[in-house]
Amino acid sequence: MNKNISKPKYFILKLASRCNLKCTYCYWFRDKSVYEKPKKIKDEIVDFFLDKLQKHINKYKLTDITISFHGGEPMLYGKKKTIQLCEKIKNIKVNNLTLAMQTNGTFIDQEWCDIINKYGIGVGISVDGILHDKNRIFLNGRGSLSETINGINLMKKNNINFGVLSVYDDEIKDAQKFVDFFKKLNLHEFDILIPDVNHDYENIPQISNFYNDLFNIYLKDKDLKIRFFDQVVKSFYHNNSMEVNILGDVNHGLFKHMVTINTDGSIEPEDSIRTSGYKACETTKNVRTHNLDTLLNDDKIQNMYQSAQLPKECEPCIWKKVCAGGDFTHRYSSKTQDYSKKTPYCNQLKNIFNHMATTLIN
Ligand code: SF4
Repeated sequence: MNKNISKPKYFILKLASRCNLKCTYCYWFRDKSVYEKPKKIKDEIVDFFLDKLQKHINKYKLTDITISFHGGEPMLYGKKKTIQLCEKIKNIKVNNLTLAMQTNGTFIDQEWCDIINKYGIGVGISVDGILHDKNRIFLNGRGSLSETINGINLMKKNNINFGVLSVYDDEIKDAQKFVDFFKKLNLHEFDILIPDVNHDYENIPQISNFYNDLFNIYLKDKDLKIRFFDQVVKSFYHNNSMEVNILGDVNHGLFKHMVTINTDGSIEPEDSIRTSGYKACETTKNVRTHNLDTLLNDDKIQNMYQSAQLPKECEPCIWKKVCAGGDFTHRYSSKTQDYSKKTPYCNQLKNIFNHMATTLIN
């Protein structure tokens, strides 16, 4: 039994393990073991989870928790089942319970908007901007932009607040065009994620020129909020890395505050770790038989947790408090079978931090 306790407050609940899209960069399907899981979460798994959740809240006297519906595509779970689930969740006794959903937005219709509004579900929608139709494609290869925009427009009509998440593609050369795409949709707040790679990848996307240009636009445009820059600027001033993994994770947020519950009830860490390969997240724990604070009692997860230290090669770096070696999942190497190296984006991140800091000073 290890002494480091995981006291998760953020629960990623996988309602469906399949998707109606096959986005080219999707981390979920990079681990083929997800196809071995039930397509949708079963009622008994929901019941085990909610029972363990209430016990977990009571045990640690938690006051704020978040349950985030994920997939695959969580709306494949269906409207009726989602309503039943939300009704069951209403019975959980805790001061603040936040419900969230990360969706590709292609299924959103009036009925979904009614469900979202009725249960106060915070929506995160994935939109990639000008290259959306290149990467976010249906199973037949067709781009999904028009369906996603329909979903966005319906949510706006229903006064639903939603966050926008995009993934950078290094074919996007023009940061202004990228921003203009979102502004035309009247979206002034979004995030742009660095593509998931690790040391096994031969081609590392070129991010620094684009991010530097984007930062210049972000600084001048007071209406624009881009989470990546908000968080890096915040960490410049507070001189530490964020709690959870936009960059480094030496605070162990990934392992202590967050767990994933799969459609088969298995308890796993935050699942972008799947980019490390087949069954990379698999543990010996399941909500049928284990409590929700159990993750660090799994040997594999304990080894990952130990890996989430500042890499030795980052010790002399002036950005180590901001970056902490980079995104945990990007640090994986199949040669060493661990996360001990710094991110392959290191030089590019240094370039971005230098640019941001000198621009802010000037
Ligand atoms: S910029 Fe590079 S050397 Fe510095 S902390 Fe990040 S990964 Fe390590």
